[in-house]
Amino acid sequence: MSILIRVWKELDLADIEKHTLIVGELSSDCSACKHIGIDSKAIQCPACATHFKYMAFRRKLEMHYLKKMKDELPGTTFIDFDDYKKAIGHRDARDLFK
Ligand SMILES: [Zn+2]
Repeated sequence: MSILIRVWKELDLADIEKHTLIVGELSSDCSACKHIGIDSKAIQCPACATHFKYMAFRRKLEMHYLKKMKDELPGTTFIDFDDYKKAIGHRDARDLFK
């Protein structure tokens, strides 16, 4: 039986920042240029042309929706939005003391 379960994996934060589609309740936005109103199934940003390799969800995530998105976008890596925000916060806080 196949299930969806969260796993931890080392990924490059800079790569995530450049290639993530952040899916919200009503529309999605690009992590690279912050363009809003992008279709949640877009593979490329209409404004800056970055390719979306990752997808994060600002909205509450329901498993049937995640399964549907995974089936439709098999090449996309799904990441936890809170983990992403925390990593950026840690990086920015560290940069303040450089
Ligand atoms: Zn963009």
